Formats: sequence, C-alpha cells, structure tokens
Amino acid sequence: MKLNCFMTGIMAFSFSAALSAAELVSGGKAKASILLSADAGAVEKHAAAELSAYVGKITGAALPVGTNQGEKTTVEFVLFNSPAAKSLPPNIQEKASEIIDDGFVIASDVSGIKIISNSQRGLLYGAYRLLKDAGVIWFMPGEENEYIPQNADFKIADGVRLFNPAFAQRRFILNGGSGYTPDTYDWIVRNGIQLYIDQLDGKYAKWAPVYIGGGHEMTDLLAGNYPKSEQRSAAAEKLFAEHPEYFGLYKGQRIMGGNPAHSSRIFCQPCTSNPEVPARILKSTKEIISRYEGKEYIRILCNDDHMNWCECAPCKALDGKPPAEENGLYSNRWWHFVNFMAQNLLSKDYPNLKLHAMVYQNYRLVPENIKPDPRVAVIVCPHQRCYIHSLNDPACFPNSAKYRKMFDSWHAAGVRSTTFEYHTNLPGNSYLPMEEAWVRDLKYYHSIHMEGFGLVTRAPDGKTYIERRKYLGKNMWPALWQLHWLTGYFSWNIDADYEKVAEEINSKFYGSAWKHMKIYRRTLREAVELSREHMYYGSPPILLGSCMDRPGLVDHLESLLASAEKAAESPLILSRIQREKGYFEKNWKTQYRNYLKDKDNRIAAQKRKEKIVIDGLDREADWKNAKQVYNFAACDSSGTHAARLGSIARVCFDEENLYFFLEGKKAKNGKMVLETSGDPKKIFSDSHFEIFLTCPAMKGEDYQLAVNAKGMKYQTTGTTAAARKETDAKPEIAVRDYPDLWCAEIRIPVKNFTPKILTGDFWNINIARAALLENGKLEFSSWCNGIFHGNTLFRQVMMGTQEPLLKNPDFEVVCAPEQPKEKNKRNTWIFMDDKSVANWIFSNANPGTLTVKTDTPASGKVYLHVSSGGKYSFIDQFIRIPEKDKNTGIYAFRMMARGKAELLVRLRGPKTKYYGDIAIKIDSNQWFPVTGIVRCDEQVQLALSIRIKGELDIDDVHLSMADSEEMPDSSKH
Ligand SMILES: [Zn+2]
Ligand SMILES: [Zn+2]
Repeated sequence: MKLNCFMTGIMAFSFSAALSAAELVSGGKAKASILLSADAGAVEKHAAAELSAYVGKITGAALPVGTNQGEKTTVEFVLFNSPAAKSLPPNIQEKASEIIDDGFVIASDVSGIKIISNSQRGLLYGAYRLLKDAGVIWFMPGEENEYIPQNADFKIADGVRLFNPAFAQRRFILNGGSGYTPDTYDWIVRNGIQLYIDQLDGKYAKWAPVYIGGGHEMTDLLAGNYPKSEQRSAAAEKLFAEHPEYFGLYKGQRIMGGNPAHSSRIFCQPCTSNPEVPARILKSTKEIISRYEGKEYIRILCNDDHMNWCECAPCKALDGKPPAEENGLYSNRWWHFVNFMAQNLLSKDYPNLKLHAMVYQNYRLVPENIKPDPRVAVIVCPHQRCYIHSLNDPACFPNSAKYRKMFDSWHAAGVRSTTFEYHTNLPGNSYLPMEEAWVRDLKYYHSIHMEGFGLVTRAPDGKTYIERRKYLGKNMWPALWQLHWLTGYFSWNIDADYEKVAEEINSKFYGSAWKHMKIYRRTLREAVELSREHMYYGSPPILLGSCMDRPGLVDHLESLLASAEKAAESPLILSRIQREKGYFEKNWKTQYRNYLKDKDNRIAAQKRKEKIVIDGLDREADWKNAKQVYNFAACDSSGTHAARLGSIARVCFDEENLYFFLEGKKAKNGKMVLETSGDPKKIFSDSHFEIFLTCPAMKGEDYQLAVNAKGMKYQTTGTTAAARKETDAKPEIAVRDYPDLWCAEIRIPVKNFTPKILTGDFWNINIARAALLENGKLEFSSWCNGIFHGNTLFRQVMMGTQEPLLKNPDFEVVCAPEQPKEKNKRNTWIFMDDKSVANWIFSNANPGTLTVKTDTPASGKVYLHVSSGGKYSFIDQFIRIPEKDKNTGIYAFRMMARGKAELLVRLRGPKTKYYGDIAIKIDSNQWFPVTGIVRCDEQVQLALSIRIKGELDIDDVHLSMADSEEMPDSSKH
C-alpha cells in the first residue's frame, strides 16, 4: 500500500512494525466486504458507498456493501454507545473511550476493520481516513479536483488508532446564496469539516450535518414566528402599534426594530430591559428549537443588524459605566440578554442544544459588570483584523494592538469562542497568499482552547449566484484552495509542520510546475511583506497595486507563471495554472495599472500670496488660482465609480499651515444628516468631510479631521483605521450652508507634524466625504478612489507649482545597475544583489559599495547603504534647472542620513566647478535630517553631488528652488 505522506504525531502507530494487515483488495480483486447492520442510517450507508467507490477508483475493484456474504475480512461501523460496542475487545474499548467530539478509532487486524465513533459523523470521517491513508486527496469541490493514486492492493496495517479533531466546531459558512451544492458538501465532510445547515430536508442527512439557526432576527423573534418576510414585518408593525414600549427608545421616541439592509429607515434594537421582550424572544426561540428535537442543534443569539440600542433609562442602567472603547459600549446589556436566554434554554428539555452568542459591532468586548454564562460560546467577529498576517504576528500592528487582545480577553474570561472570519472581504477577489498566516491563526486558536472557527466562503458549485456576485461565488474557493484544504488538514493535525504539509499538497496539485509556482507564490508573498501593508475587511483593491510597485516585479511574476505553464505535464495542471494566471491578471496586474495612474495624478498646492481669512468664502485670489480637484470616486459593492454627489477640493499652504476649501454638492432634496450633538465621534454618521494628511516627518502616522456642515469637528492620529487616538491640532474652520451645496474653509496648523512646509515638499493627503443621497443612503467618496484610511495610498500633493528638480529622490525606483557606455569598461562600484536605483549616477572615478535596502527606510520602502571603503564615493544626479524667471539661484537641500561617515553635498556646474559646501560628520544610528542652502545661478549642466566617506544610510533626498523670501534669516545678507 502507498504510505500516507502526511503522517504526523497524531498517529500513534507505525507501518513499518506492522507485519500483518487487513487486506481489502489484493491484485485488483476484492477480498472484503463492507457490512451494514439492518438499522444502518443514511450516514453509515453513505460512508459505505463512498469507501466502496473510492477503493474501486484506486484498485479497480469496488468493495461489495451489505450483509455478510461469507467474506473472512470485513469493514464494520460501530457506534460506541450501541450494544454492538460491548463485544469489542477491551484494548479497543479502552482506546474508544478516549474519543472526543466527532473523533473516531480505526481498529485493524486480519479479520478486518472496525470504525468506531460516538457519532454518525465520526463513522463517516473514519471511512475517509482510510482513503486519505491510501493517498486520496480532495483538493477542492468537484470530481476533477480529486487525486487518486493507482494501486492493485488496498491493505490497512494492524493496529488501533485514535483520531480526535483539534476543534469541536469546524465550520465553513457558505455565504452568498449558492443554493444546494452537493459537491461542496462532499468536500466538507471528506476533509473533516462539518456541514452546517438550517434545513431539515432529508436530502442533507447523509452528510451528518450540524443544524444551526439564528442571526439578525431580534425584532422578528419579538414579533413571533413567521415563515415569510412580509408576514414578519406585518407582525412587527402590528406589535409596534399595540406595544410601542417593547421597542427601542431612540432620540426620545419609540421606533421600529428590524434590519435596515434594504431600507433607509432608522431602526433601533428592542427594549430588552422590558421583561416582556426577552420573554417573547425566548418563546419564539423555543418554538424553533423544538423543530430540531433530538438533533445536534446550535442556536445563535444575535442583534438586529445595526448599531442603535434602546436609550430608555432601565436599558441604559444595564450598560453601567460606558467603557472607553466603542466596541464594548453595549457588551453589558447584551450579556444580560444572553445569560437570560442561556438560563432558560440550556436545560434537560433541550439536551442537544448549544448556544452561541455573536460578539459583534459595538458589543464585541468582554462585559465588565456581568459574568458571561460559561456554557455559551461566543462567535468573535474580528472585523478589520488583518488577514495577511496572523493574529499573533507581533509585527502586524492592527492585529497585535487590538485583535489578539480581543481573543485573549475572551479566553481569560473563561468563555469558549469560535469565529466569523472575513477572508471573503479582502482586496480583489481574495486571491492573496495568506494560507500560512491562517494556519498560524488556527494554531493560536487551538493554544487558547477555542471551540473552533467559522470560515466564510462561497461554494464553487453554486448555481444560483446572482449575476453581480457570480464571479466571486465561483472563484473565491479556487483562488484560495490552499487555505481551504489546509483548514481541513490542520483541524485534525494541529501540530503538523506547515512547510512539510504545504510542500506535499502543492506538489501534488501543480505537479512538476510546482517548482515555478513555489517561487511565484513566495515572490507574491514577499511583495506583500515589502509593501508593509495590512489587508482587512474593506481594504481597497488598489493596495494590491501598491504591493506590485517595484520595477520588474510584475514581469518577473508573469515569467514564473509562463515557466509553470511550460512545465505543466497535463491539460488539467495547465488549466490550474492558467486559472491562477487569470487571477493574477484580474487582481494584481489590473490594480498595479490603477495604482500607477493614481500616482501620476499628482496635485500641486498653491502657496498663498495674501492672508487667507477663514470665513467660508473663497474670495482670496489664492483660492481663485488654486487647482480644483473634483474627481472624487465612491467604492462600493458595485465597484469604483464617480461619486454621484460631486465635491471640489482646493489646497493652499504657507510655511506653518495647510488651507483647504471644500465644497460638497447636495442631493436635489437638499437634505443632509446632521445629528451629532454631545458626542463628536457621532460625526461619522453625519454628512461630513474628512481630511487625512501625512508627511515624512510623521513616520507613518496620519492626521484625520472630520468636519460636518455645522462646523463640528473630530480629530485623530494613527497609522490605520483600527488604531487611532484623539488629538487636537487646533484647526480653524468656517462652514457655509447653501440650498444646493455646503462648503468648509479650513486652516490646519502643521507645527505638531513637521517644523515647516517648504516649496517642493510632498505630503500625502486624502479628502473624503459622506453625503446623503436622494434615496436616504450615505455615499462615501474620496479623491483616492473612494478609500478613507490607508495613508500609503493617499494622493501626493506637492507644495508649490514648481516641477521637482530631482527624479527618484526617495530611491523608490529600483533597477539593475547601468552599464558603462564605453566598450570594455566595467562598473567600478559594487552593486550588492545586482541592484541599483534609477536616475542616480554612481561615479566610476569614485566608487564604493551600494546596497539597496528595505528593512528600516526613513521614508517610502527603499533606502541606500553606501560603504566607501576608506576613500570617497560619489553619487550624482543632473538636475532639472528651473526656468530663468523662476530661478532665484537659491537651492534648499534636505536628506535623511544615518551611520558613521563624512558627508559633503554640493552642486556641480560645467567644468567641474562646485557650489556650496553642506558638510557634516555623521555618527548616529538614528535617521536625522541633513539640511542646507546652496547658491548657484548656473543655467546648464548642473548636478547634485553627494560625497561620502565611511558607512552611510541615505534616504529621501530633497532639492528645491527656494523662494527668496523663504531664506532662513541666517542665510540672508
Ligand atoms: Zn429600553
Ligand atoms: Zn497585518
């Protein structure tokens, strides 16, 4: 027999020591039969049929199934709590007593095989285990995606082996309305995952499903149990008319409850402090639960899908002192409700019931004033955790700062937890190399004894996907097939070695093309790492483009895919590679194009010439001359498109301030949402503008200012959407409200961010807006393709209208070293890893060693390390000389430096005449700015010349033509 390639610690059994074996097929002839007892159910019948069929696919001989026809060797299924189990030998009984959850035991000797479990599902898993041991792999749903080794013999070596899952709950949440998808259900049970369904239809029984129910239906359950949505809303309206006190108090009025998905109406959660409310919800829940009598059933407790909670005094009293974190505002109140449900449902009346409670939106955190009933497992919804890094990756800022703590705190509270993951909502169609990070997550989940996970996905054999979602429905699973398969594998083999398992499964899937695909996937992974981006629910697709922003990278990845295509040994493997090539094109390459377009789309800010009075009027000539930016885009489920309600933004600056003039067109009805009163954070649900800005001195942080049409403001700083703190930069704001538009004139002092703004500086700025559409919904748009947070994607705004004098000033464009034009001449510089940077000249007369580095840049992604080896090394660039009338003859220089070296910066004119002498001895392991002024009115062949002696890191070189009034006093004569 073919040895299983994935043997791991869980198998306390050695093939080599097994001299005898149960022989099911020998020389292509069946030697055994699969026995089914007279009362065998749908699951056992299915297990027998699957085992028989796949033994047939491997050996050519399907095993007979039925009652004993006199074969000496048999395969039998034994439920450990059945009378048949009493006759098992003591050593097998002992092993079987160690089975937990839906685990199983396989006992094998010459007389045959016994698969023993406490549950029908465990019996089914046992049958599949025999096939996996023989080398069968189900890569993804569909017969074309299975791997069947060919072998005339099928033997199971003697022994008694125990298999327990690492998690009691192993759930794939099949979202997106895929309908009945039997190929996916087969894949799920074959790979040790559980099928979760809410339908009692007998056609699902053979997959041994776990029944589950509950969701955003607080108000539905309050109103009663009705099958159709019209009936539910009619019942809720009727109840609201009769008993408004059951419903939530919102801004002084009792208002309706429900889910706003298809309506712009504002809803509120029901009034759960009114004892009638939980009592009615309990009654409706009991009616539903009783339908699943005798079956394994999970009931999920969840709110209605919005964040408004009843504001009546008794409800507020349940909240206690509100916690500082918004994510936990309603946790206390929520657990009063959950504990009430648990006390009344988890009783001997419902022995097979398990309760799960969502912890979501603004009730995600552990409650502070009430102890959660430990019998309830929580479903943690880590909206906006990063999936490209694992939860316990200390280098991933959003995960380590927030989300890991959230999981750890539920563990510390003694509450078992499971999850609702968001791999489906990542940039593009989730074609991301994140399977290793996810396996690390599973290991972490196991280490804190979590109940399991809920992986949201789409069934690729779904037939009912609506047109708009069809592509994601069909392609999400194939794009992430490794992630899905490894989830099944590690759910049972949590301690297995990732590298080994990944190597084995990929080499089977891609065949001899794997050696190219392996480098391809690793390069893609490295590109993501180098970008230092994080990817979470709602991250914009253009992030993929920013990861591709290294010269030659896209070509390199495409050439690896081309090599893989060439190496493919079969049409099937070729089709797999071509599918992936399609994903690369559709996601990474397309987004790279969008990213480049965006990068070229620079904005120049106007340097103010007169005082700008902040009065909400654009009377100053500076506003008249400033460039108007009006291409705001919205990014929603239908993609990125021009905002329906247009906006115009203008930017001016002086040395100490940035000035913004923002205008937002209103919908025809002229309406806005303006509800912020006491709590300035609520501004985010108002009609408002947001300004985000960052400059190199802010070291990756950005400042955010939200302003509504009443002139109210809210300000934060942070690196991502998830990790921000309040701040006050003391902005001056004036707003004006007109029937068809509103505008805001804003001055933001920058002294908290950078010493001063110079002409030629670059800032990354985003201007975003939430505007109320005619249909009552908010439209979110921005001048960066609809994104809000994510400061590496903000638009570059150049201070002043002058063209930059240097190309590639931040060394971000990396390239191969340029070869000398003269024949037989060679580069005297040593370029480590054969890498150089575009537009810079590395003087052959004064060489050194150049290393292009990415670990700790002062700005952007790349910096240079120069080692001069005791002599002088020269790095030059010819500069673009400003036109005569704009040439003041005064150049301002700035650069970031670090290391131990002598540095001399000058301008070099024709005939090697040098100007200026910015000289400094550097001895620092921290980045710091080197600045200075050079006077030179040469009009031809001017170059910036940097001379280095020693070991020096350099980054972000800056040269601009200074306005004469910008000269520092000490330089004026
Ligand atoms: Zn209330
Ligand atoms: Zn991350």
